[in-house]
Amino acid sequence: MELRARVPDGPIERKWDTHRFEMKLVNPANKRKFTVIVVGTGLAGGSAAASLAELGYNVKCFCFQDSPRRAHSIAAQGGINAAKNYQNDGDSIYRLFYDTVKGGDFRSREANVYRLAQVSVNIIDQCVAQGVPFAREYGGLLANRSFGGAQVSRTFYARGQTGQQLLLGAYQALERQIGKGMVRMYPRTEMLDLVVIDGVARGIVTRNLITGAIESHAADAVILGSGGYGNVYYLSTNARGSNATAIWRAYKRGAAFANPCFTQIHPTCIPKSGEYQSKLTLMSESLRNDGRVWVPLKRGDTRAPDTIPQDERDYFLERAYPSFGNLVPRDVASRAAKRICDEGRGVGPTGLGVYLDFASAIARVGEATIRERYGNLFEMYERITDENPYKVPMRIYPAVHYTMGGLWVDYNLMSTIPGLHVIGEANFSDHGANRLGASALMQGLADGYFIITNTIADYLATRTLAPVDATHPAFRDAEAQVAARTKRFLAARGSRTVDSFHRELGSIMWEYCGMSRSAEGLRTALDRIPKLREEFWRDVNVPGSADTLNQALEKAGRVADFFELAELMCLDALERNESCGGHFREEYQTPDGEARRDDEHFAYVAAWEYAGDGAKPVLHKEPLEFEYVHLAQRSYK
Ligand SMILES: Cc1cc2nc3c(=O)[nH]c(=O)nc-3n(C[C@H](O)[C@H](O)[C@H](O)COP(=O)(O)OP(=O)(O)OC[C@H]3O[C@@H](n4cnc5c(N)ncnc54)[C@H](O)[C@@H]3O)c2cc1C
Repeated sequence: MELRARVPDGPIERKWDTHRFEMKLVNPANKRKFTVIVVGTGLAGGSAAASLAELGYNVKCFCFQDSPRRAHSIAAQGGINAAKNYQNDGDSIYRLFYDTVKGGDFRSREANVYRLAQVSVNIIDQCVAQGVPFAREYGGLLANRSFGGAQVSRTFYARGQTGQQLLLGAYQALERQIGKGMVRMYPRTEMLDLVVIDGVARGIVTRNLITGAIESHAADAVILGSGGYGNVYYLSTNARGSNATAIWRAYKRGAAFANPCFTQIHPTCIPKSGEYQSKLTLMSESLRNDGRVWVPLKRGDTRAPDTIPQDERDYFLERAYPSFGNLVPRDVASRAAKRICDEGRGVGPTGLGVYLDFASAIARVGEATIRERYGNLFEMYERITDENPYKVPMRIYPAVHYTMGGLWVDYNLMSTIPGLHVIGEANFSDHGANRLGASALMQGLADGYFIITNTIADYLATRTLAPVDATHPAFRDAEAQVAARTKRFLAARGSRTVDSFHRELGSIMWEYCGMSRSAEGLRTALDRIPKLREEFWRDVNVPGSADTLNQALEKAGRVADFFELAELMCLDALERNESCGGHFREEYQTPDGEARRDDEHFAYVAAWEYAGDGAKPVLHKEPLEFEYVHLAQRSYK
């Protein structure tokens, strides 16, 4: 396997323009001759499907939900970054680029990140034109707030519902194309395999989740926008349905998986309350614009927060990181909260929590303003905890939130399988070892509206693809494999539910491959996961049949893939003998507990190649070069 990143030559600010000019185009009359499959209708897939159809391609679009607009992206809360510099506070494309490379702890590709920052400004224009109701200043300009890892305000938002409003914009554009017959939409349809013919991606095999029908779809190119895999940990802030199946099956067909261990733990989530909980809830990072994070100075202080005097509180982020204060990046804030709780200064019934307090913001700007900014988040918090955050500080704790790892892609967003493109959270690009807040929506929409629309043309215009349809033996073969696997789940008739296995896998992952990792712990995980996986296949109980809606069956397939992916994540974490961003190896830390990178040995993207069941995957390395943002120990002090 060869990793050719295909980064264009020339100065960084000219690369994308030069590349766009040099890439081949498909003439408008020829576009309708091509069929493109898009898996996913979140911000990445939805925007790509709508834009490709608008350009004239035939698009087949798939999602497992009952409607494209139920994709997980709808849950995104706090905002989307763009280097518009409306605040005149020193922002620029270069600064967004710089912040993102630094925030990612120097483990991303500079050229991709620069392009992302460039395109960010177009995204806002596009979404405003669609009618996305971004918050505005009194004079009419779009408003901004701050997110972690930046000292400027560049985050555009629609209250705490930014993902929902952006997705409605993309969804309207998609529906328009569905109405015109340019997009054929397949809801409640799950991609279960990728079909590769003559080394090139030519289609997918799906299962209709209502009838159970297994079907083949041929195309000239396939795009995966299938989201992230944080649910490997069972408890995460992701939608319950988010899963790794599409990218995992593509990996098993030859697509390299990059940096699988790079997981983001978000500092501000509602703490777990019990063993039978199935979901964690995010409290958006935007709250750290006004909320102050603190714990009691003394260990085991169980007084009510409002009775603890100011001089007996430790505003530990403001104390340790005076330049960025409560808005340090997520990895830094999460580790600081963990350290404080490990010291025995955590709050709440489990001791795994810290306060996020709005009292001083309310005193400064009034409750009405805070309600205007974050009303829906406060309401969500109160419904879940039965505590009123206007009166009592929120309690928060870090939780799994996002996966920076994903399928490896080149500058054109193409995987190591020609014709298979990967966009949004499903790919590894742009965020390195730690994603900055409000940058996922930016990346998903950059990929879908502006990048893939250009690069797919070059792919289609520069090769002659033999005509292929779904009668090709490769499709028959993949269908048979999908059917056999489905049958195997139903035949097991064991004694344990899919969820019970998933929960156990999740707790192994959280314990040994979560917020902090060690070689010893990772070896333990690598010993326990295969044993649990073997038990899963032997003892899982999937009731019902394959020809009706069967959610246990759907979950079984996803959890089986999580088992395999979990092992790869631990292997990747074990091989990376350094700490960087969200990957914190206990053995590699500075005296004050910060991540210690090893640029000499690990400044690369780890891209894993599947080598067959039971065989150790092969590690390939894409070296990372930093020409513009010079390698340095990150400091937010
Ligand atoms: C609670 C929460 C809040 C967040 N807030 C923010 C924020 O404020 N700002 C920000 O920048 N980021 C935020 N994020 C991150 C951001 O929401 C996600 O990274 C982003 O929405 C992912 O978009 P996507 O299009 O890549 O995937 P998704 O939105 O996850 O969409 C995946 C799509 O793929 C489909 N799919 C998946 N697998 C298959 C399959 N096998 N077959 C068929 N279809 C399939 C699904 O049906 C779905 O349509 C937040 C995340 C969470 C969890």
